[in-house]
Amino acid sequence: MENKEWKEKLLYSPKNGYDRLSEADRTAMADYCAGYKAFLDAGKTERECVREAIRLCESRGFRPFVRGMELKAGDKVYVNNRSKMLLLAVIGQEGLEQGARIAAAHIDSPRLDLKPNPLYEDGELAYLKTHYYGGIRKYQWVTIPLELHGVVALADGQVIPVAIGEGDEAKLVINDLLPHLGQEQNKKTLADGITGEQLNLLVGSEPLQGEEGERVKLAVMKRLYEKYGFTETDFISAELEAVPAVKATDIGLDGSMIGAYGHDDRVCAYAALKALLDLTEAPQRTAVCVLADKEEIGSEGVSGMQTAAFDTFIADLCDTQNVPARICLEQSFCLSADVTAAYDPNFPEVYEKRNAARVNYGVGLCKYTGARGKSGASDASAEVVAYARRVFDAAGAIWQMAELGKVDAGGGGTVAVYMANRNIDTLDAGVPVLSMHAPFETVGKLDCYMTYKAVKAVYQN
Ligand code: MN
Ligand code: MN
Repeated sequence: MENKEWKEKLLYSPKNGYDRLSEADRTAMADYCAGYKAFLDAGKTERECVREAIRLCESRGFRPFVRGMELKAGDKVYVNNRSKMLLLAVIGQEGLEQGARIAAAHIDSPRLDLKPNPLYEDGELAYLKTHYYGGIRKYQWVTIPLELHGVVALADGQVIPVAIGEGDEAKLVINDLLPHLGQEQNKKTLADGITGEQLNLLVGSEPLQGEEGERVKLAVMKRLYEKYGFTETDFISAELEAVPAVKATDIGLDGSMIGAYGHDDRVCAYAALKALLDLTEAPQRTAVCVLADKEEIGSEGVSGMQTAAFDTFIADLCDTQNVPARICLEQSFCLSADVTAAYDPNFPEVYEKRNAARVNYGVGLCKYTGARGKSGASDASAEVVAYARRVFDAAGAIWQMAELGKVDAGGGGTVAVYMANRNIDTLDAGVPVLSMHAPFETVGKLDCYMTYKAVKAVYQN
């Protein structure tokens, strides 16, 4: 054999996805990404993502799961967990004792939540105090237009949806210091330049006519009352999230990328959802899609991936077939569909080039995440990674190996460990992201589409 042939046979040589993309895939990719951008614009909070996902799945024949319901192969059901987490399934041809094929992604993203007592006036300007959610770099959230989305739950049980700043409506903003007076601030580190208690949303400046004090605050509260019907006390039982006021948009002169708020992890959530909706016939094994909340703060709580709501969903499905849930779980496979860091040539010092994911090289497989000596990782077994390679190759899903940055540069985690702890073979895979957790993140379209193909292949194997 010539060296060239030996090289082809023996060496690992990842190729840019565009050198391997078929014309059919290129067309499908464009359609897919248009749908993804619409999903992003419709869902800027976990609640909105659940609402949009329900709208999409019901239009494709899914119905709410009700205990006692009989299910047969091809049936499509979902459970809405408290409007913040969605569990969906397409019943397979084989029984659940053969396990399920699961894709788990999260729909919460880093943002600024309002504090329970947020509204105040200072210097005759009205503000809302926030408490940041997830890992943010605080300096990135000032001087950009923001919207406020969420719900206010009244004491009488009524839940009022709130969306401030959508479309042409006035936006909110957090201000920063002018450079002229920034001499001392300039000496601070990026981490300290803007503090958590400075992340206060400017919400008004025009006072109510009259003599009473705090007239600007009162004017803001009056507007909120007139539009939504809630009072200052009702902020206590509200979930209001400040999110970037920006629509998903193509990036680059070639339009080959998408810039948006919330790619982490709606880019994988949409892939997991869309792949499930696109199953045209009953898969061999039951396909399950989980859109979880609270990943960014540890997957805790009633709507996070550690919740018993997932185990209850699987047990309820198993009950329809008289299969013990523990047998289903041990036979199952889960793709923990979450984003990874894309190699950024602007910051080469934190990446290890030979093991970093690249934009346009396809869905990134992460054998392990974690920090330091893989702490906090589920570390998928060699056999599980081999299974994924086989399934993705057979389906023509372009993939690459990925590691989140250099050893000891930092680290992170996903829901993988919580699925693996349930005795489910689990592998992390997802879209490489530039500027992850920033108010505006960037991904490659090719990687978005290949993640969809990869998840679909998992559902079908
Ligand atoms: Mn994530
Ligand atoms: Mn994240």
